[in-house]
Amino acid sequence: MHYLVITTGSCGNCYIFSTGRDSIIIDDGVTYKKITEKMAEHEIPLDTVRALFLTHLHPDHSKGVGVLQRKLGIPVYVSNISAERNESIMVKQKIEKTLIRTYDFGDTVTLPGFSIYPFPTSHDSDGSAGYVFCAEGINFFLMTDTGIIPEEAWELARSARVKFIESNYDEEMLENGMYPQFLKNRISGRYGHLSNRDAIEFAKETSRLGDSLYFVHLSANNNIPDIVRNLARKEIPSGIFCKVCERGEMFEGFHDGKEE
Ligand SMILES: [Zn+2]
Ligand SMILES: [Zn+2]
Repeated sequence: MHYLVITTGSCGNCYIFSTGRDSIIIDDGVTYKKITEKMAEHEIPLDTVRALFLTHLHPDHSKGVGVLQRKLGIPVYVSNISAERNESIMVKQKIEKTLIRTYDFGDTVTLPGFSIYPFPTSHDSDGSAGYVFCAEGINFFLMTDTGIIPEEAWELARSARVKFIESNYDEEMLENGMYPQFLKNRISGRYGHLSNRDAIEFAKETSRLGDSLYFVHLSANNNIPDIVRNLARKEIPSGIFCKVCERGEMFEGFHDGKEE
């Protein structure tokens, strides 16, 4: 398995997973130019893309969807709740309704090369989702934009060998920062984002030696990558690979698909 974090953070989020023959994209908050350039650079052919999955419809996760849909004609998966309650956003972002596919939480979506299990997250965007998927015998886990860790996520993360976990803010920086109180409350609230402390604790509790952890969606104003790195170094055993994905940067990874 070959995967790319095209970019992550409030500036845009986009992930690509490829077996070589089949690929999926999760979130598209970047331009078509950027996505296609990075895919070409890393030798993931565009015609391997089977579908796009959205965690939710905030623009940093969905602003590229309309163009990508029109260029590639691929299906875009969202939860049925998300499709029902975000119609005006879809219209605004010129997302083509005929290419929208919906799932119910609890369902598994099966595509060539991938089987994908969406689970609900807790965010101020109706029907938001995280994903666990299996490709080449390995489980991958992705959870961003969630104010609390959903109960179900613990077991799902334990089953996965590669994990992408939101580590949005440092509690002290948020508390002492410049944001107005309502925004601080939104970010740290039940429907906001995950703190570094919660992310590291979750990662530590659900990982075992040999796993790979990517900390993503770091806040530009309420976090510093070194804080996350230091926390990870302190809390997470050295046999677990940890990468803090700096805002706006690209990261590439491989997994040979063999379960130890
Ligand atoms: Zn969001
Ligand atoms: Zn976001």
